[in-house]
Amino acid sequence: MSLESRTADGWATTRFVVLGFGTAGYACADSLIQAGAEHVVVLDDRDNEALREKARILETLGATITLGPGSTAELPKEVDVVVTSPGVPPHAPLLAQAAERDVPIWSEIELAWRLRDPANAAPWLCITGTNGKTTTVQMLTAILQAAGHRAVAAGNVGLPLLEAVLDPEPYDVIAVELSSYQLHFTHSMSAHSAAVLNLAPDHVDWHGSMAAYALDKGRIYANCQVACVYNVADPATEQLVADADVVEGCRAIGFTLGTPGLSMIGLVDDLIVDRAFIEERATSAQELASLADITPAAPHNVANALAAAALARSFGVPATAVRDGLRGFRPDKHRIAHVAEVAGVNYVDDSKATNPHAAQASLLAYEHVVWIAGGQAKGATFDELVIAARDRLRAVVLLGQDKQVIIEALERHAPDVPRIVVDATDTGAMRIVVGEAAKLARVGDTVLLAPGCASWDMFANYGARGDAFAEAVRSLAE
Ligand code: ADP
Repeated sequence: MSLESRTADGWATTRFVVLGFGTAGYACADSLIQAGAEHVVVLDDRDNEALREKARILETLGATITLGPGSTAELPKEVDVVVTSPGVPPHAPLLAQAAERDVPIWSEIELAWRLRDPANAAPWLCITGTNGKTTTVQMLTAILQAAGHRAVAAGNVGLPLLEAVLDPEPYDVIAVELSSYQLHFTHSMSAHSAAVLNLAPDHVDWHGSMAAYALDKGRIYANCQVACVYNVADPATEQLVADADVVEGCRAIGFTLGTPGLSMIGLVDDLIVDRAFIEERATSAQELASLADITPAAPHNVANALAAAALARSFGVPATAVRDGLRGFRPDKHRIAHVAEVAGVNYVDDSKATNPHAAQASLLAYEHVVWIAGGQAKGATFDELVIAARDRLRAVVLLGQDKQVIIEALERHAPDVPRIVVDATDTGAMRIVVGEAAKLARVGDTVLLAPGCASWDMFANYGARGDAFAEAVRSLAE
């Protein structure tokens, strides 16, 4: 096809259809026009004043925008490439038609990769996984910056990747968070190094099956140049590395909470050590940081730090910068955030645990837990979680639309754990939940909001759910 190179000519004559006019779609269309594309058609079934306002801006630059119901039903006849937005499933009619007609479909990531200026292109250090992506990308950015690099977090977090790539002042390196949706339509990316943190069922509706979801996650390793980083405790991630077609010389690097083998980064006592990126790795290891440098030092967060360290080391970052970057780093709000201690009980907000795999990781970080769970389960099951965590559960307080699926898993695997079901769904519901949890907790216990479910049945988003929890804890303290 005509776009192998970044010549103005290729972009000018190629006919693009951009599917979706949200933040990503707008950025894609705008970037295409800036790159010299003369045929850019944007389609979205939605229509409102805000979209029309944005449409007017792009129309003055030469794009054609069609909004409103039915706009995406039919793929235009004259099209060479479709650029799609995250969230649009592959079976959407327009994408199905494109696939049928052999029209290439690009994600915004694919577009960003192709729009890099070859003379000044920053390497990409890419991260995906079911959970921990945002935290790990931010940790990596902190480490890269501690090493003195002009680095930024982009992609599914922070700056849109197109903006990072097209920044007039080039970055030295970009830490890229990638979702499985974005990877599905990404074809020619060649990361400097890439990591899959873990794999558990999520978004299976979109991908069609768990196997298809895993396959899309694995695309992050395709054409990888220096290091494919995998999770030793999650063999499915190692398998994705084994299956990947990488650049010759690219290495498989494991991270582990245990003692690292050759070509791994892991733990020896309370030290993070590198047996992957030092000359004498066959016989020795280099200390990078200590557990005391990681906050919080919950096992899954330590795993995130190990993955970030592996990617940073693959980029040549010195050990001291790994330590300095981790030391100053704190995860974003609602990610195992300590809210308060009330009457000898700790209250922790992990509202961002929106699937069972995430909730399980946080439950396993505490010895005795009153677990607050429930919301929209998105078809997930909770058996594995309950089996793994049942010995730690002091009690469970359930809320939200799909609590029944959790109740059934508890009945099957932990029938003796006391549970309270809160049926209220109004704004006062979280106060009732926290009040019940407080009654069940003993001194030294943790009350943990790690719902394992999405929040949309009762709250605007996971942030609002976490805020309601924190407010209820504060009123308890008063
Ligand atoms: P993502 O961007 O993948 O959603 P975040 O860094 O925002 O990941 O973390 C989301 C939630 O996932 C956290 O609140 C925590 O419950 C859980 N989590 C974080 N890291 C891990 C991990 N390595 N393994 C399992 N669960 C994790």
